[in-house]
Amino acid sequence: MSDPRRALPSMDVLLGDPRAEAWSVEHGREPVKASLRRALERLRSEPELSGDGADLIARLLSLAAEDLAFRQRPSLVRVLNGTGVVLHTNLGRAPLAEEAVAAQRRAAGYGNVELSLETGERGSRYDHCVDVVRELTGAEAALVTNNNAAAVSLVVNEFARDREVLVSRGELVEIGGSFRIPDVIERSGARLREVGTTNRTRAADYDAAVGERTGLLLRVHPSNYRVEGFAERPAVAELVEVARRAGIPLAHDIGSGLLRADLLPGFPEEPTVRASLAAGADIVSWSGDKLLGGPQCGIVAGGRERIAQLRANPLLRAFRVDKTTLAALEATLVLYRDPERAATKIPVLRMLRETAAAVAERARAHASRIALPPGASVAVVETRAVVGGGSFPGFELSSAAWRVRGLRPDAVAAAARAGTPPLLGRVEQDAFLVDLRAIVPGEEPEAARALAAAVEAAGRGGVGA
Ligand SMILES: *Cc1c(COP(=O)(O)O)cnc(C)c1O
Repeated sequence: MSDPRRALPSMDVLLGDPRAEAWSVEHGREPVKASLRRALERLRSEPELSGDGADLIARLLSLAAEDLAFRQRPSLVRVLNGTGVVLHTNLGRAPLAEEAVAAQRRAAGYGNVELSLETGERGSRYDHCVDVVRELTGAEAALVTNNNAAAVSLVVNEFARDREVLVSRGELVEIGGSFRIPDVIERSGARLREVGTTNRTRAADYDAAVGERTGLLLRVHPSNYRVEGFAERPAVAELVEVARRAGIPLAHDIGSGLLRADLLPGFPEEPTVRASLAAGADIVSWSGDKLLGGPQCGIVAGGRERIAQLRANPLLRAFRVDKTTLAALEATLVLYRDPERAATKIPVLRMLRETAAAVAERARAHASRIALPPGASVAVVETRAVVGGGSFPGFELSSAAWRVRGLRPDAVAAAARAGTPPLLGRVEQDAFLVDLRAIVPGEEPEAARALAAAVEAAGRGGVGA
C-alpha cells in the first residue's frame, strides 16, 4: 500500500484553494501559509494517516482554519456586560456614545490637533474641549490629561513640589488599581501632612496643620468607601476659607465627575464639578470615563492662572491626552448642552436612569430564547445592580437578571467567558446570573444566545449541581 503521506497536497495547491485565497485577502498570505504549514506538519506526524487527496485537503483546511482563527484573534475583544456593574473598570468603564465613536473615527487620521486653522501656526492640543468644559461647569479654564490619576499627580507636583499637602486622614484612600493617595503625593514630589482622624476632621484641624512648608490643601472624594456613624468633615466652602487664610490653593479631586445632578434623580448626593467650583475650590479634577460617560481621561477645571501653571508643567507631556480621546470627549460633552440628549445618548446615563420595570421587561421578553438542557432552569429574578467606578458607594439599583440553576455556576461562568462574544455575569450562591442593566438594549438576543451556548457547553461537561 502506498504511503498516504505522499498524497498530502503541496503548499502551492493549498494556497490556491479558494478558501485559503479568501483567508489571504483577510489576514495576509504569510499567516495563512504558517497555519497551513502547521496543519501539514500535524497530518504528517499522524501514525495512521488515511484518506484520499480530497479528504486530506478538507482536513488540512479545517485544521488551518482553526489555527488561523486562534492566532489572529485580537487580544482586546468586545464583551457583554451581564455583571450588573455599570461602570466596570475591568470592562473598560463607560461605553461610549455613538457620537463619541464617530468623532474618534473622524479624528483617527490627520486633524488640527496642534494647529490653529486661523493662523496656520502651531496651536495647542490643550485648547480643545476647553470652551465646552467652561460652559458646562462655570470654570474659567480647563485642562485635559490622560486620566484623573495623572491630573491629581500634576496638580500636586505643580503646587506642592518639595512642600506639604494637607489631606484629611479620612480621605487617604486607595481608589483601586493601586491608586493610593499617600503614594501619589509622595511620588509627585510632595510630602503628605495628615490632618484630623479617620472619622472626624474639622476645619480647625486644617488650620492647625498649616505651616511654612504647606503648598496645597487637597480634598479627595473617598469614592468607593464610606465612613458611617460618628463622622464629620468640613464642607468645601469651609476648606476654601482655610486655604484662603493659609494663602494656598484648594484642590478637589471629585473622582466620578458628575456634571449635572438632575440627570440622576433619586440618587444619593455626589459632588458636582459646578458646585465645587461655586463653593470656591481653586482646582477640581475628575475622570472622563466614570459618571460623565466619556473616554478615559482626566479633566481639571479652575482659574485661568492656575490652569496656565499646570499647562506649563513639564510633567504634562508625560500625561498627554491623545487626539481620539479629545475627539470623543468633546462629542460627549457637547451632548450635555441639552440634558435630554445627554440622558438618552450617553450609555452610562441611559443605563442608570432606566427603571427597574423596564429592565425586568427586557429580561422577560428574551428569556424564552434561552434553550436549556434537561436539569437546568432559567428564571427572571429581581437583583441589585451597582453603579461601580467608585461612584455612589453602598447605593444599589433595583435590576433584573436571568438566573440559571441546575448546573455548576462556575462552569457556566467559565463557558460564558469562553464564548464569542464573551458574556460576563456573576455567581451568586448556587446560580449564575446575567444582569440586564448593563446589557445594552438591542443586545439581549445576543446575550440570550451566549447564555444558551454557555449552558449547553457546561451541560455537556455533565456537571450538575
Ligand atoms: C477614580 C478616581 C481616581 C482615579 O481616576 P482615573 O481616571 O481612573 O485615573 C482618582 N480619584 C478619585 C477620587 C477617583 O474616584
